[in-house]
Amino acid sequence: MSKEPIRSIKGTQDILPDQSSRWQTLESTIRNTMHTYDYFEIRTPAFENTSLFLHSVGEESDIVSKEMYTWIDQGGENLTLKPELTAPVTRAFIQNNLGGLNPINKLYYIDSLFRRERPQKGRYRQFHQFGVEVFGSEFPEIDVEVISLAMSIFNTLELEGLTLELNSIGSEDCRNNFRTAIKEYLKPNFDKLSETSQKRFKRNPLRILDTKSLEEKTLLKDGPQISDYWTSDDKDHFNEVCELLDKINIKFELSPNLVRGLDYYTRTTFEVTSNLLGAQNAICGGGRYDGLVEQLGGKPTPGIGFAAGMERLLLVNQKSDETIKSQIYVIGLGDSARSLIINIALELRQNNIRTSFDLLRRSIKSQMRDANKLGAKYVIIIGEEELTKNIATIKNLSNGDQEQIPLDSILSHIKSLPLK
Ligand code: ATP
Ligand code: MG
Repeated sequence: MSKEPIRSIKGTQDILPDQSSRWQTLESTIRNTMHTYDYFEIRTPAFENTSLFLHSVGEESDIVSKEMYTWIDQGGENLTLKPELTAPVTRAFIQNNLGGLNPINKLYYIDSLFRRERPQKGRYRQFHQFGVEVFGSEFPEIDVEVISLAMSIFNTLELEGLTLELNSIGSEDCRNNFRTAIKEYLKPNFDKLSETSQKRFKRNPLRILDTKSLEEKTLLKDGPQISDYWTSDDKDHFNEVCELLDKINIKFELSPNLVRGLDYYTRTTFEVTSNLLGAQNAICGGGRYDGLVEQLGGKPTPGIGFAAGMERLLLVNQKSDETIKSQIYVIGLGDSARSLIINIALELRQNNIRTSFDLLRRSIKSQMRDANKLGAKYVIIIGEEELTKNIATIKNLSNGDQEQIPLDSILSHIKSLPLK
């Protein structure tokens, strides 16, 4: 009786060897840029106490209200697979007293996240983000550094068709006043609002600005604007962010309704979208969260960060990746050649030369075919004649040239060849 093979979970993906080099290139681009900006990596656990997300991301957010993988473990603890990184990184920042060690902490991550969403192109249940969280500075310079860091990575990846949208949702005072005003304005139209917006009206009116409905968007256009409620400090901060972005030639569009989905944001919010993606067009979102550290029990500390979706970046990254090719393939036949071949391969590998040999005890002809398939530049042949004469034949697979050299000079000879 044949068994049904077990399949992966819906919304998760295997990254197979033909794709993993694209991931590696993306990851090394991210790391290189992070390091030139002097950001340091932080890694946090895959799961946390559920309360961490309830107290930061907010119960009304999509993430907390419907997307978290949450369970009670055998010890009765309420746990959640991380659906985002700002809360875990902030928890780690507080718990490890990073603020006491350094007045400013510039952290970055590359990580896997989990959200129970409806899987579709660009939307998965396990996906990857890279991002940064910076703690300690309230000044516009850091807003601009964080935005320019994200844009610099997208530029290095040669992504096209991107738009940077920018807004400020002000400080707490501003948002309190705006909340009252928008409720006042929408009250007469409450019955016409969508179910989602009605819920938000009661629990988190700011998020109504996030609506996808055209009718509601038109209604909002004539209503109160957040910018009318900015304090003078909010206004100065935002103007300075815009001026500095202009000075370093980063193009942006003002997007007065950009509030982002999570509760913890304050002042600067931004999003980067791509016109190459359909409905799932956001590749990066971020902003300031000056109240979050305190909200999670730490000393009041301003913070700002962003997170970018790596699957979506790879979808918009049209640049094809050069596949990595083998350099040397060692060919031989029979018991007497076998240990010699293993030795030669070992020595070359120890010298950082990519080397393969046959693991299926195939004929010389099949081994040659395998070498071509792997894209090897040279083959080293240890045949009967070579064994008796203590030599090796080196063949250049691109032009067919071959020469014989003493066995003990293989390494120095190979090193003298152009291998790339
Ligand atoms: P969306 O509006 O697309 O649901 P979001 O506001 O939930 O995005 P964030 O929480 O800001 O997204 O996450 C930052 C980035 O992570 C997004 O801009 C997107 O590129 C990516 N992302 C979010 N959810 C997913 C997912 N389920 N699968 C793949 N990428 C995702
Ligand atoms: Mg979402």
